[in-house]
Formats: sequence, structure tokens, C-alpha cells
Amino acid sequence: MDSVDSVVVGAGLIGLAVARALAIAGREVVILEAETAIGTHTSSRNSEVIHAGLYYPRDSRKALSCVRGREMLYAYCAERRVPHRRCGKLIVATHERQIDELRALQRKAHANGVTDVAWLDRAAVVAMEPALHCVAALHSPSTGIIDSHALMLAYLGDAERAGAMLALGSPLRAARIDADGLVLDVGGEEPAQIRARRLVNCAGLTAPSVARRIAGFPGARVPPERYAKGNYYALQGRAPFSRLVYPVPEPGGLGVHLTLDLAGQARFGPDVEWVDRIDYSVDPARAARFYAAIRAYWPQLRDDTLAPAYAGIRPKISNAGEPAADFVIQGPAQHGIAGLVNLFGIESPGLTASLALADDVADLLQT
Ligand SMILES: Cc1cc2nc3c(=O)[nH]c(=O)nc-3n(C[C@H](O)[C@H](O)[C@H](O)COP(=O)(O)OP(=O)(O)OC[C@H]3O[C@@H](n4cnc5c(N)ncnc54)[C@H](O)[C@@H]3O)c2cc1C
Repeated sequence: MDSVDSVVVGAGLIGLAVARALAIAGREVVILEAETAIGTHTSSRNSEVIHAGLYYPRDSRKALSCVRGREMLYAYCAERRVPHRRCGKLIVATHERQIDELRALQRKAHANGVTDVAWLDRAAVVAMEPALHCVAALHSPSTGIIDSHALMLAYLGDAERAGAMLALGSPLRAARIDADGLVLDVGGEEPAQIRARRLVNCAGLTAPSVARRIAGFPGARVPPERYAKGNYYALQGRAPFSRLVYPVPEPGGLGVHLTLDLAGQARFGPDVEWVDRIDYSVDPARAARFYAAIRAYWPQLRDDTLAPAYAGIRPKISNAGEPAADFVIQGPAQHGIAGLVNLFGIESPGLTASLALADDVADLLQT
């Protein structure tokens, strides 16, 4: 049976960032990816926004890793020439009744150390974005956009240069724990058993299922696996905005926002649709809700200009109606199994936080 020091399950943004950190730290790393290409799930089905860190409860892992990861990411993108732009964003209150929520968001941002978030009255907003309807807004200058696929390729390139190996079409089917580490049962065209001293579960949407397939792992430590789909619509033609535009957040997500890609093309999303299975099709019938949500802040949006684009699915570990759970990174101190780390519920802002989360995982596996 082949032996390897560290196996990372999943070649999305998080698995690739973790593999990079472990390989740079001198570990022998194999990345197992079930699909035949990297990043085909959540990591290529998101808003591609570098978040500033406004939304998350103070001192939560989401808040801390977002704020730390955002600056690490900007520095990394500059160094490795990953396409990105610090374009800034506006979060808009479209009714007087949302003012208190917007004020609370500003306080939360400041508590998280995001002190550059400024309050703008309507006139100041209109001077920046004349097409925007609102009564007030927050301006976040440290929010940006990024090419998420270029980021994954940069992480993979660094990991491979440091000796990591990527195995595509290689799903982890099951594992068992023994005295020397973990024995992994890998499927695909050439099924194999591998012995690993360390295993990092970065399987995203199915991370809880993967943990459940590790014989000897305490089932009570596995959170529920819930899916909240987010659909996106693309705008036909150009949007008259040079920054991202967000409404005040809604339960389960950040609200149907305008994001721009690096070519200036606008897309709107994601909404929140709780689903039972992974299905990325976008139902054209949802368009009516999008027009209504967007017209709250952009009344001039014309009929028949939105086209279904794509969908992503948030890997939730809390149920609909419950407060969003924090990111969970479970190491030996939590579950008692040497060499094993599980990452659960890495929804937004996981892209932004990826470098910070990877460092946290590498720290947990130092011994
Ligand atoms: C709608 C939406 C919008 C978002 N917007 C943003 C944003 O603007 N900014 C931001 O910072 N974050 C955002 N996020 C969050 C961000 O996209 C995720 O946190 C990040 O992509 C998660 O990466 P991952 O590697 O954990 O998961 P994934 O990209 O899903 O990767 C997991 C990988 O594991 C593989 N896998 C699964 N099971 C196995 C197995 N048994 N064996 C081998 N491989 C397996 C899968 O094939 C997959 O490639 C958003 C998320 C969603 C859903």
C-alpha cells in the first residue's frame, strides 16, 4: 500500500489553499479530487467578491478569517498577478425603515476592525452612482472582485512547485483509523488504498458525508449537511455602475446584489433557495423575483434584460430559519483523532478567507 504524509480531499479553493500551505511547509501532499477538473463546484459558482468582513459576528471565525484573509489575498494577487480589482461596494437602504439595519451593519463592521466603512447620505451616493435609488448607503472601499479560477490555478501552481500531486477523478470513498494514521479507500478508474498520516477534509458541500464515511470517527461531531442554492442572472448590456451594489442582508444570504466581473459585465444574485440535492440548473421562472429585488435599488432596470446565468450552492450546517453557523475547523483537539482535520460549512466568505483558513489548518497539523 502506498503511503503519503498528507492527503487533502477536494480541489476547490479551500483544498488547494490548504495543499499549498502544507506543501510549502515541507509536507508530502496528495490532493484527491472526485471530478475530472479542479473547482467545478462552489469555487466556480460564487460572486467572486473579495469581502471586506462587515457581516459576521464579532470574533467569529468568519469575521477573523475574512479580515485577515482579505489582506493576505490582495497581497497574494499582486505578487502572483491574479486578476482582481479593489472596486469598492455600496450597501444601500432603499427605505427609511432599513436605516437602523444599516447603522447596525456599520457598527458590526467597525467592531470587526473594518473601520474604513463610511456612511453616505443620498446626495453623496447619487454623486458616486447616479442611477442608484436609496435613502442612504454604506461605502466599503476595501471590497473587490477577483478571477476565482485564476486564483485556484495560482494555488495549484504553488502547491505543485512545492511537490504536491493532484489526482483528478479520484473520490475518497471511505477511510478507517488505525494506530499509524488513516487508511483511505480511493475510487476512480484505478481504485487504490493509501495510508496517510494526515487527512484534511475539504470536500465542501459533501464534507459531512465524507466525515461520516471515516470508520471510527465520532458521528456526534458531524454537523448536518444542508444546501441553500443561490441563482444568478446576467444583465444583457452594460450596467451603469462602477462599484458593487448590495441591499441590506436577507436571512440565509447577503441579498440579490449586483456584482461585476473583471470585464465589467454585470450579474445579479444570489437568491436563497433551500434544496435537497446538488442541482445547478437555474429556473427561468425565478426572474420575476429578481426584477422586483433589483428595481428596489435600480428602478430603471428594463424588462427582458436578465438571462439565467448559473447557480451555486451554499454548504450550510444550520437549518433554514436558524442563524448562519460559523465556519467549523475541527482538529484533533475537538474529535480526538490525530492527523485529521475537517472543514465544515465553508460558505461565504470562504474565497476571501482561503489563505487564512489554510494557515489555520497547517498550524493544527504541525505535530
Ligand atoms: C452562491 C455563493 C456565493 C458566494 N460568493 C462568495 C464571494 O463572493 N466571496 C467569498 O469570499 N466567498 C463566496 N462564496 C463562498 C466560496 O465560494 C466558498 O467558501 C468556497 O468556494 C468553498 O470552497 P471549497 O474548496 O470548500 O468547496 P468546493 O469548491 O465545493 O470544493 C470541494 C471539492 O471537493 C470535491 N469532493 C467532494 N467530495 C469528494 C470526495 N469524496 N473525494 C474527492 N473529492 C471530493 C468536490 O468535487 C469539489 O471539487 C460563495 C458561495 C456561494 C455558494
